[in-house]
Amino acid sequence: MTRDVPDSVISEVPAHGDASADLSRFAINQITTRSLSLKEAVETYARHGVGGIGVWTNYADEMGGAAAARVIRDAGLFVPCLCTSQWVNVTGGVALARAIEENRRRIDLAAEIGAATLVMVPGGLAAGEKDLSAARGRVEEALDALLPHARAAGVALGLEPLHPMYAAERSCLNTFAQCLDLVERLGAGTGIVADLYHCWWDPEFPAGLRKAGPERVLTFHLCDWLTPTRDVYQDRGMVGDGVIDIAFYRRLLDAIGYDGPFEIEIFSKFDWWLRDPQEVTRISIERCAPFVAPRGRAP
Ligand code: ZN
Repeated sequence: MTRDVPDSVISEVPAHGDASADLSRFAINQITTRSLSLKEAVETYARHGVGGIGVWTNYADEMGGAAAARVIRDAGLFVPCLCTSQWVNVTGGVALARAIEENRRRIDLAAEIGAATLVMVPGGLAAGEKDLSAARGRVEEALDALLPHARAAGVALGLEPLHPMYAAERSCLNTFAQCLDLVERLGAGTGIVADLYHCWWDPEFPAGLRKAGPERVLTFHLCDWLTPTRDVYQDRGMVGDGVIDIAFYRRLLDAIGYDGPFEIEIFSKFDWWLRDPQEVTRISIERCAPFVAPRGRAP
């Protein structure tokens, strides 16, 4: 693995809290402030000058797609992604048909609220199953089955590699290289949702980003890895509080020409979910500002 990045893309970072920070490509994934309704999250982020919001289906469903779309549009926010697909990794024709149908509905919801991508979290092993490669094969078939609907709706299927500790229960898509291979086989209308939490440990991650190129990275999730991590699902660190070299990844993304979204996404049952969402929003902006400026215009 090399960490060489041209000097030309290495730039100064601003002081935290710089009020002049350009947040136009920065989104907050609403799970970061999960006690807020979608409407409250939209209003909070917009008031703080954040460019976009990552939306979760349960919040959008609670409001109804049309109302959600209106609130987001009126606030002028972009939507990098809708989280997430329903698990498709089920055995049995009826269950699979239902899962495909529900995911078509979620693709339509994504289109309705202007989300560019539906994040695909397909499930791990089926109940009682031990054949991981069969599970992965079923996921590929399900994605293939969904793709015509996604293409017609103009919503990308975003394959998000999840940390290997999630392989049995949540997703059998676990490395960047695995997802990129899948994207290459599936073709147009698919891409990668890259998340530092899930990928930072992977020695092939930087090479994967270079190989993917800017157009196949759909959105980039920011957070940090705490030591120790007390809960692998819900103990993510705020940007800057952990061990991930986020500045390195920002330079690498600049070097490959990535101009897409940066989205903070924090699951934190011990800390950030217990705080005032206004404070979480403010600190998210302060911590992320050094990493989210437009390419070539880093402060
Ligand atoms: Zn993520």
